[in-house]
Amino acid sequence: MNRPITDAAAGRGPADRLIAELGLVRAGGRLRVAGLIYTYRCTIGCRHCGFGCRPGRPDVHQTTAQVLRNLRMLHELGRVVHVAGGEAMLYWDDLAEALTAAHEAGLAPHFIETNCSFAADDAAARRRLEFLASRGLAGVLLSADPYHQEHVGPERFCRVRRIAREIFGQANVWCTDAPDERIGEFAAIARDERRLRAHVREHPPVIVCTAYQRLRGYLDDHPVAEMPLEAGWGRRYATPDCMVEWSAETMWEIHIDPYDNIQTNCGIILGSVTRTTPRAVLAAGPENANWVAGELALRGPGGAGGGAAGASRRGGARPRAHQVQLLLRDTSRPARDVARDGRPGRALRALNAAPLTGGAEKTPGRPLPGRPGWSGPLVCS
Ligand code: SF4
Repeated sequence: MNRPITDAAAGRGPADRLIAELGLVRAGGRLRVAGLIYTYRCTIGCRHCGFGCRPGRPDVHQTTAQVLRNLRMLHELGRVVHVAGGEAMLYWDDLAEALTAAHEAGLAPHFIETNCSFAADDAAARRRLEFLASRGLAGVLLSADPYHQEHVGPERFCRVRRIAREIFGQANVWCTDAPDERIGEFAAIARDERRLRAHVREHPPVIVCTAYQRLRGYLDDHPVAEMPLEAGWGRRYATPDCMVEWSAETMWEIHIDPYDNIQTNCGIILGSVTRTTPRAVLAAGPENANWVAGELALRGPGGAGGGAAGASRRGGARPRAHQVQLLLRDTSRPARDVARDGRPGRALRALNAAPLTGGAEKTPGRPLPGRPGWSGPLVCS
């Protein structure tokens, strides 16, 4: 799908100017973000990962042609654009080639995310960060918390933060300001089950994908109707629905993955860039992309009849918060099958019993036998 580069240039102009004025972090907070999931493969496997990334995921990343096409589409949105993963630097040579081509085409992303595992020493860190700056990136986002520092030495994060601030300026390095000693403490928390439990309960990540599999046990089980909003779902919002994350204006992030899926920050697929664009999806309202999106936007993770009002009207059995694991493969299925009468529908019950699987099946446009319209696992809890 060839689109005029002028759309991307027009879209990125205001974002570029705001970044120059305010810095990457503040501009990103104001304009919100859009990113490439360059690969689902990662150097590590964090327990809180919302995308199931880990070393064993398929050896697949976006080609240079995909990167150019997708960056062009994302810059049209007028958001702050980034490259994420997985760990994109895992494929450094190919990534470097793609970033060089993007820079030459006026499509450089504004920043790249990394878990800093590459930074074995100062020279290695500086070499890559200087390369990114030379290819037009405004800055970087660096991950640090107990989940990352369970795998990545704190000194690697601290090294990249120090050098990145030198190269890009503090306003363009998106990461915690916690002192180095506190970063070291993250690793200690990850090693201590009691402290990790307390951390998960105090700062619950969004409980989807790997986080659902590996962290839900640290949280209390609640009926959906009584689920506290801070317990791993919608914790920033005052309502049980998810509309804030589904409205084009307020949605924090939108992605394109290596299989051409357009998807939300909680991994729900909204379409394929082989058939539509993120701009078209946002213009139509992401909540209208398919019935799963509509259910989540309007009623939250309980789905039809699972919300507080519906459940209290009916009384009786309701899905448990941590059992509402939607693993939906057929986007043409009518919404009423999700959770009828406050209970998980037949399709949901069957899918709940199925194990979560890796990314190999996340292949768009290739329906499974007997499943027309299948577009990969859509996982939420
Ligand atoms: S959270 Fe980030 S660093 Fe951790 S496994 Fe997922 S993609 Fe990799």
